[in-house]
Amino acid sequence: MIEINEELCKGCGLCVAFCPKDVLKMSNKLTKKGIHPPEVINEKDCTLCGNCMLYCPDLAIVIGKEEKIV
Ligand code: SF4
Ligand code: SF4
Repeated sequence: MIEINEELCKGCGLCVAFCPKDVLKMSNKLTKKGIHPPEVINEKDCTLCGNCMLYCPDLAIVIGKEEKIV
């Protein structure tokens, strides 16, 4: 499960850069804050390594084995 909080995300792209499996890419979508958040394009290749979560400076991405973390 990869959960991206678009309200917290500032569109820096670090999560995309540090994902070793190319699971994420920056989307074309524009949020209310006027930024492009990442999107999940390849979830099946995610190894749950946690890099994206560790490197996100805004705690905007959460990786977990559960279906949903609230
Ligand atoms: S947990 Fe690892 S493999 Fe999965 S999206 Fe994040 S950086 Fe990529
Ligand atoms: S590292 Fe965090 S703030 Fe930067 S684009 Fe990814 S989710 Fe958004």
